[in-house]
Amino acid sequence: MRSDAGALREVLRAIADELPRHERRLNELDAALGDGDHGLTMTRCCRAIRTRLDLLPDASVAETLAAVGTAVVAGGGGASGALLGSAFVAAGQAVSDGQPVDAARVADTLDAGQRAIASRGRVAPGDKTMLDALAPAAEAARRVAGSGGSVGDAVAAAADAAERGAGATGEMVGRAGRASRLGERSLGHPDPGAVSVAFMLRVAADRLRPAGPA
Ligand code: ADP
Ligand code: MG
Repeated sequence: MRSDAGALREVLRAIADELPRHERRLNELDAALGDGDHGLTMTRCCRAIRTRLDLLPDASVAETLAAVGTAVVAGGGGASGALLGSAFVAAGQAVSDGQPVDAARVADTLDAGQRAIASRGRVAPGDKTMLDALAPAAEAARRVAGSGGSVGDAVAAAADAAERGAGATGEMVGRAGRASRLGERSLGHPDPGAVSVAFMLRVAADRLRPAGPA
């Protein structure tokens, strides 16, 4: 059986491989609201994740999340690198080693991540940031945990909720970061950070989907 830490490493590696494919789209979204570099920042974050994973063959779930988070804070750059990295670090603090990863642990990590972003970024849901994808994702995972669903169910529900949340940022006025300077002119443009979070959770959900009959 695959270990929890092994599964986490596979998910993180898949994210780090796939997200850079969306670099152009993410830059374009950021060009409408900010300075057009969000895709580049995410590509740098992904490089930091890959490099760090290569050095972590035997780390636990908590150690892996902490190490990857620290690497993203250090190597990501941009507002989003620091925020995303701190979310990974907080997620690592929310799991204790030796405890198997179940749907409730998934909800705990997403919840810790969203709290870190809210406090470090001084944002609330509705401010048109990555939090508008991550907060509903954490809630969705918690609901699945409450009804006895699996890890895969929790991550799939989180990805669905994050996609809806990212879509909804198009109808929000920016109140944080560069988008806040645009005021009403930010309407109609989805937040790039929220779109990135939804992409990441979708890759994770696809990776964790149970294999169909052979
Ligand atoms: P920068 O704004 O430094 O160019 P990026 O372009 O990489 O950074 O990332 C922009 C994204 O960062 C935004 O779309 C938003 O989701 C997120 N962001 C910016 N400021 C904040 C904040 N204070 N709190 C939460 N998220 C933020
Ligand atoms: Mg930017």
